[in-house]
Amino acid sequence: MKLPEIRRFNMDDELFICSQCGYCSAVCPAFKELTARWESAGPRGKLLFTKNLFLGKDNINKTFAENVFKCSLCGYCKEVCQVSIDLVTFWQSVRAEVFRNNLWPTPLHDLKASMQEEHNVYNMPNEDRTIWSFEVEDLVEEHLNSDAEIGFFVGCVSSFTGRLASIPEAFIKILDNLSIDFTLLGEEEWCCGSPYFLSGAFPLAKELAEHNIKKFEQLGVKTLITTCAGCYRGWKEEYSHLGLELPFEVKHAVEYLAELIDTKKLKFKRVQDIKATYHDPCEIGRLSGVYEAPRKILRSILHLDFIELPKVKQDCKCCGGGGVLKITNPELALKMGLKKIEEVESLGVDSVVSACPACYLNMEEAIREKNSKVKMLDITQIVAQALDL
Ligand code: SF4
Ligand code: SF4
Repeated sequence: MKLPEIRRFNMDDELFICSQCGYCSAVCPAFKELTARWESAGPRGKLLFTKNLFLGKDNINKTFAENVFKCSLCGYCKEVCQVSIDLVTFWQSVRAEVFRNNLWPTPLHDLKASMQEEHNVYNMPNEDRTIWSFEVEDLVEEHLNSDAEIGFFVGCVSSFTGRLASIPEAFIKILDNLSIDFTLLGEEEWCCGSPYFLSGAFPLAKELAEHNIKKFEQLGVKTLITTCAGCYRGWKEEYSHLGLELPFEVKHAVEYLAELIDTKKLKFKRVQDIKATYHDPCEIGRLSGVYEAPRKILRSILHLDFIELPKVKQDCKCCGGGGVLKITNPELALKMGLKKIEEVESLGVDSVVSACPACYLNMEEAIREKNSKVKMLDITQIVAQALDL
């Protein structure tokens, strides 16, 4: 059978629905930043090549495989597709074909080895998963593997990247400040499997997913919260593609915090005196539709001068931090980050706020590269500041 993965994802008809209009290529933020903008590297060209593979007119090859990963899976192409092709699932199914044909980009093999040996993306001993907690050690110890209805899934990026430690730290300080009981897994937390979903290796994620679900279920968790947009979509959407049912609901921290504002449990004491904008992370924004919760939070913080970017919500320009682009094509990811920071700078704001550690890392790198005065902030950090924590 030609392209079994494309069939498995029910994407074979889509190959023939595509009218080759090129709207997708016109908006693709990754394609725009390529030095050599060959049609074959843009979404329309890649879709046409996939159709030729399906019809047996061509053979899958390394150049095509490399082009398939010159994409951050931001979903902007899906947004503009005039015949409504679910292009994010489509690219994931094409990546699954690349994986099946053993044509993965080299860095993904290292990632796979790390996920299999250490259960995290950084090839660090998983016993060090609470390394981020040096400022809040007592709090983590008190809640580690305790029974609670709220579970906090920290995620690999915040757990192991020193300069992001303040994201989970801020979030648990907020919970503690509001006397909300919670639990977290520490070294028993395994990667959510999102890098496998993004790279087309869905079956490899199953062991990780089953482990995490079982651990939180044993602790009596009813609501699982994460501060990472990638983990959120992994848990909320992709686990169902593995045939797994969750015994609890999943929320991104912004959804949970916005609910606490609605129920008047979260009230900001401290006045912020900054001018900030918000970047919608693709995985909670365009791909999940969580647009209002972060805006509600930012608008609730007194004296925070909140200014929207020219392109927001479903039209938000991807920062380049997702879709394993940072691993497979770091230079392209940085170029996209630089474009994003240019857009932020055009507003004259002090800070750009986001709700995803992967966005944070890529935009922060772009800020440094550009020598920009803009400050990168995660929304949990700004909430903690507004509570004087
Ligand atoms: S998902 Fe984003 S980066 Fe990938 S092809 Fe579509 S628009 Fe381009
Ligand atoms: S926008 Fe949709 S129909 Fe047009 S070329 Fe892209 S995938 Fe095909």
